[in-house]
Formats: sequence, structure tokens, C-alpha cells
Amino acid sequence: MDCIFCKIINKEINSKIVYEDDIVISFMDISPSSMGHVLIIPKEHHDDFTTANDVIAYMFEIADKIGKNIMEKLNQTGYTLLINYGTAQEVKHLHLHIIPDNNEKDYDIEDVYKKIKM
Ligand code: 5GP
Ligand code: ZN
Repeated sequence: MDCIFCKIINKEINSKIVYEDDIVISFMDISPSSMGHVLIIPKEHHDDFTTANDVIAYMFEIADKIGKNIMEKLNQTGYTLLINYGTAQEVKHLHLHIIPDNNEKDYDIEDVYKKIKM
């Protein structure tokens, strides 16, 4: 299957991985909506959230951990959790966005990565 996020899981495509375990992987969004924008994806391919009941709760459990870490390391006060679906969803491999609540534009991506990598 030609899935860009499966390729990230298999390390066929480079990404800035901030967290990984047996079930999910989290990496920085290549086109961030805010400083510290990351995605959490299940390692098992699901096109979208509708077939992923088993793993969704775990994704949110990990989002809490990653979100707390981002808030602490980047001095953030909050974030938006987002799952797009249908025509709103660009990449057809389920992903949960964590979008920190900031309008930062002028920052060093490598510096941010070093700070939030778990
Ligand atoms: P959505 O499918 O929810 O609309 O968003 C897909 C997200 O994946 C976008 O925010 C986009 O920037 C991100 N994205 C797409 N391709 C890549 C990639 O190859 N690497 C990374 N790190 N992010 C990607
Ligand atoms: Zn996939």
C-alpha cells in the first residue's frame, strides 16, 4: 500500500519522531499550524477513525502525555486535538493532531524538536 504515514512508521521516510511505542508513533507535522504541532498515528493502518475504535482511546491517552510534555517544554498553556475526516482529511492514515495554542512563526524547528522529543 502506498501510504506516506506507513512509510514514516517503517522509517522509509524521515520524520522528526517525538514518541514511539508498539502501538503508536508521534512525529512533528511537516507543515505546522503552530510551534510544536505534532501528529499521533497508530502503527496499524486505518484509513480513518471510523474503523479504529480499539486504538482511539490509547491515542488520546498518549496525546495527554505528549501534550503535557509539550506544554512543559515549550511553555504552552493549551492545545487543540483534531482528527480530520472525509474531504477534510488529506492523508488517509488515521492521525490525531496536537496543535499547541500559539502563533509563533519565528522559531528554530530543530530546537523545538530537541525540546519536545521524549
Ligand atoms: P490532514 O490529513 O488531517 O488534513 O492533515 C495531514 C497532515 O499531515 C498535514 O498537517 C500535513 O502537513 C502532514 N503531513 C503530510 N505529509 C507529511 C509528511 O510526509 N511528513 C510529516 N511529518 N507530515 C506530513
Ligand atoms: Zn498507512
